[in-house]
Amino acid sequence: MNAKRPMIAVLTGAGISTDSGIPDYRGPQGLWHKDPSAQELVTIGPYLRDPEVRRRSWLLRGEAGALGAEPNAGHRALVELERSGLPLRVLTQNVDGLHQRSGLTARKVLELHGTAREVQCAGCRVTGPMEAVLARVGAGEADPPCRECGGILRPRTVMFGEALDPVVLQQADAIAKACDLFIAVGTSLQVYPVAALPQIALESGARLVVMNAEPTPFDEAADEVIREPISQALPELVRRLVREPS
Ligand code: ZN
Repeated sequence: MNAKRPMIAVLTGAGISTDSGIPDYRGPQGLWHKDPSAQELVTIGPYLRDPEVRRRSWLLRGEAGALGAEPNAGHRALVELERSGLPLRVLTQNVDGLHQRSGLTARKVLELHGTAREVQCAGCRVTGPMEAVLARVGAGEADPPCRECGGILRPRTVMFGEALDPVVLQQADAIAKACDLFIAVGTSLQVYPVAALPQIALESGARLVVMNAEPTPFDEAADEVIREPISQALPELVRRLVREPS
């Protein structure tokens, strides 16, 4: 048996959370494809400029009920992978917090696009729970202001028109460089800079597994491409890795 345990990096996108009832907004069946004006609700310019956009945004968030979503078998498979003792880091494009909710150690999860479970003031930068703000919306405040400074509150996510946090991105690059196996799950790998991560991993000698329903630009370069539904395929892949890590 090989003494060195391979370091595994898992990049997750919208596809891992669809079985938890969270729609893939960008996908062909997604909200932004069907109704491009919905994208305005998560675009920084209109959001900060227009109280009506914020009012619609809070309302939609309350109705979508994403905070109540539960992790599925795909999320739980990664918890099993962590418990097996193999060194693991999860990089996620999702803002739903379901990896942490499933029991994965929080410091092992890097949220590339932030989290929709928290809000941040655009003025004084104070953060707080999304739940409390949605409760204020439910109680009749159409666009709840920051209680510290009266500023505009926003989800603590990376919106369209904003760059990813350079510190987070640097950490992601370092993980992609260091890993021995890079698994991309439920992501189209088409949006940069996140799409550069599997390239970095490949260039650093890692093996690449792509698990996605639709083709990705990395299918040719991948050692393995898996098209089966994630909540079945990921538990199977994890069982295989735990049995024979290398
Ligand atoms: Zn404030």
